Formats: sequence, structure tokens, C-alpha cells
Amino acid sequence: DSFDGMELKPELLRGIYAYGFERPSTIQQRAIVPVVKGHDVIAQAQSGTGKTATFSISILQRLDPEFKGTQALILAPTRELALQIHKVVVALGDYMSIQSLACVGGTNVREDMTRLKEGVQIVVGTPGRAFDMIKRGALRTDGIKIMCLDEADEMLSQGFKDQIYEVFQLLPGDTQVALFSATMPAEVLEVSKKFMRDPVRILV
Ligand code: AMP
Repeated sequence: DSFDGMELKPELLRGIYAYGFERPSTIQQRAIVPVVKGHDVIAQAQSGTGKTATFSISILQRLDPEFKGTQALILAPTRELALQIHKVVVALGDYMSIQSLACVGGTNVREDMTRLKEGVQIVVGTPGRAFDMIKRGALRTDGIKIMCLDEADEMLSQGFKDQIYEVFQLLPGDTQVALFSATMPAEVLEVSKKFMRDPVRILV
């Protein structure tokens, strides 16, 4: 198995190889193609499996580089994780004209609003700040086609449930969902039942 066989854009492949990846990990082999094809995916995967690159590559492939509005929203439980994901997205997308914004608490709200107004195709955020940006009208949801929840179990156990549900209510009805979680407690399964359609299930 190889990244070459996934029918990815050449500029994305270039970013993947430049980042130092040679071959896809197991979760990358199993999840990238279904997400790229538009399926909802629920993956039980721990850190260290290559999950971050799995959804980053899938999202970069799904984006329309010509449309400058927000097309993908990635939510993570902590600022540190959101910043880390943002860096991976930027690195893998180095040869694509894609803008990503880390939208996390503890930073200047005005700056986020300005960046969002200028146009960012990918927003990587913590649920609180992302929801805040949506409520303020700075983060427009009408162009969003994919929502990714990373460490969903952690996010739901940290009291982000209400904010995540509110964000889901504000996304277009046909938004694709990719959910990654180390464990599958009831709250995670509830999210998948409420907001996902016929998801592909992956266990690594
Ligand atoms: P993650 O599971 O996203 O926390 O990733 C764990 C580590 O694996 C990170 O340091 C990645 O850079 C690395 N990694 C992810 N995918 C690959 C790959 N296909 N080849 C080599 N290293 C990888």
C-alpha cells in the first residue's frame, strides 16, 4: 500500500513526502479513501497511530482551493492539540494554497475574526472558541462540508458536549463527519447516532 495509490492531488502527495512520510500507517490505509469519497467515518484509534495525518490528508484532498471560505472544521479538546493539528495541516498542505487557522481560547478574539474575514479554508479549534466565532458571525458555516472531531471521548468528558451539539446544529445538513476517539463511551456513540449517517467503522 502507498500514498500514490490513493488518487491524491499531486501537490498534496508532494507535501506528504516532503513531510517525511513514505508509506501510510494502518489507519491511513483504511480511513483516507472513505473520507475522501465523502463517507462519514468513525475510527477508534489511539495517539501514535497516525490519526492526525489521516484526517489532515483527507480534508486537504476534499477542499476546493478556489473557494476561500471555511470548508472544514476540526475540533480538538485542548489548545495544545488544536495547535499541533494546525501545524500538521499547514505542513502537509505546504504545496497547496490552503489557509488554516488555529482558533483557540486564550488568544486575541479580534485577530481570529480578522483572519476569518480574510478567508481560511480550514479552522482547527477548541469547541468553545469555535462556537464563539460562529455565534459572532465571524466563522461562516454555510461553506463547511466536513467536520472532524479529534479525541471525541476527551472532548465529551471535558464538558464540551453542549457546545459541540450547538455547532452541529449550525452546520449545513449534509456536512460530512469524521470522528476519532481512543474509546467509545456512550456519549461518543450518541454523537455518532445523532449526527452521522451510515458511518464506516474503523478499529485500529
Ligand atoms: P498521531 O497518531 O497523529 O499522534 O501521529 C503519531 C506520529 O506518527 C506523529 O509523529 C506522525 O508524524 C507520525 N506519522 C503519522 N503518519 C505517518 C506515516 N505514514 N509515516 C511515518 N510517520 C507517520
